[in-house]
Amino acid sequence: MKRLSRLLLALAAVLPVARAGEAETPPRTLLVEVRDIPAEAQSGEGAFAYNDYNRQRIVSLVRNHAMVLSTPAEVATLREQGFAPEIIMESDDELTLYRRALYGPTLEPDPVYHTYEQILARAAELQAAHPELMVRTQIGETTQFQRPIYAFRISNDATRAHDRPAVLFDGCHHADEVMGAEIVLALMERLVTGYGKDPQVTHWLDTLEIFLVPVVNVDGHHYVTSGHDPRWRKNARDVNGDGVTGVFPEGVDVNRGYSYNWAMGGTADPNGASFRGAHPFSEAENRAMRRLAGLRQFLLSISYHSQGEVIFYPWAWGAMAAPDDKVIKRIAADVASRITRMDGEGTYAIAPGGPSSQSYPWFYGRRGVIDMIIETGKGSHLFPPEDVPGIVAENLKGTVAVLDNAAGPGLSVKVTDAFTGEPLAAEVWLPRVDNETVDRRRSDAHFGRARRLLDPGTYYLVVSRDGYKTAVLPEVTIGADGWTELVVELHAEQ
Ligand SMILES: [Zn+2]
Repeated sequence: MKRLSRLLLALAAVLPVARAGEAETPPRTLLVEVRDIPAEAQSGEGAFAYNDYNRQRIVSLVRNHAMVLSTPAEVATLREQGFAPEIIMESDDELTLYRRALYGPTLEPDPVYHTYEQILARAAELQAAHPELMVRTQIGETTQFQRPIYAFRISNDATRAHDRPAVLFDGCHHADEVMGAEIVLALMERLVTGYGKDPQVTHWLDTLEIFLVPVVNVDGHHYVTSGHDPRWRKNARDVNGDGVTGVFPEGVDVNRGYSYNWAMGGTADPNGASFRGAHPFSEAENRAMRRLAGLRQFLLSISYHSQGEVIFYPWAWGAMAAPDDKVIKRIAADVASRITRMDGEGTYAIAPGGPSSQSYPWFYGRRGVIDMIIETGKGSHLFPPEDVPGIVAENLKGTVAVLDNAAGPGLSVKVTDAFTGEPLAAEVWLPRVDNETVDRRRSDAHFGRARRLLDPGTYYLVVSRDGYKTAVLPEVTIGADGWTELVVELHAEQ
């Protein structure tokens, strides 16, 4: 109520200023469906150029079919331009229009989309049937409602940690980009039920550790999958502290909260779609991911988003390419080439992403993980139910490439104390490859292991740790296939 009266006051302040002819667009109270939109109208200056983060007019544009918020004048203009707009709903309530546009005639999410409870229930069934193959770990809880955030570890012997390459797949940093949860759940299903039957799956589980976080932004995902608000992107934080939650556009963008060039990413405007929060790692969802990254050194990780049918990798930073640019691009291109676009024409694109505040620059720059965002599907975040199985199936083909790339080629160094033989956490780095944009890679304390995907060739390797003599290996040759194994024994300084 308080909010409503404040809104009315704000409107009263704005309305007298708006005069005919020079006014801003009046409220769009019509939801219009437009079919058969030609390709040229969908790009550049076309009437249906879709902007992912500005859905105040075009809510979705899947193939050649758009859902558009309009004023009567805009509908008339569309007709003049030769389109055939069909008014399917009129309402003063913006949220109702978005529900109709994105959920469909029922105004409720289609059952093809899983709620978090359904995802956890299916995971529990799989785990009960195959307790040796999958283990659930709570990595944190959500900022606003303290819902648990879970990671699932999958291997042929998942109750124990193994000294193997580890690969992470996560979904739904952005709440409404629900395909991520669907893809990660489908991958879980494939891995756990395929072990011992599907040779490819069996090989992965025997040789890797695979971690899945189906939903990072659990509170936001709940808003979308419960039918509360299909637009919800950010988490559920009560930013203004008024005790009212769930009123669009509140919340913090969980994919602008990581501490790599944090201040350069997103916006400081709390109402902005990409509000980055009060400080790096202000949000519990980001801290959960940081905790997971501390539990395990990942080799590769994929963060699923929508939309665009493109893979963003680290990074575009002026002329300064990421130290592992060649390897990263090769893997990104391999993954992208497996995923066919919704229109059936060609496969996903790849592009370097900006080096700030999102998951991939942090995972890569701070933690040495080759992390990428896959923008699944085209033209919406919630897709028509009939499109969901196809997008999931295509992206499962992408996971094949991700998991196969965890087999190398690359360098696998085990660092030990020369006297005790105990594994050591040490810096394991390539001074002729690395630069100051990336933290030095480290071996993990548990296994003393550092793995790095590299193109075949000869590398200058340095292994160092305080209290030990630095080991310099000027010519380490990486073969074309698999992992080049190396044991480096460090001697304590006298
Ligand atoms: Zn996103």
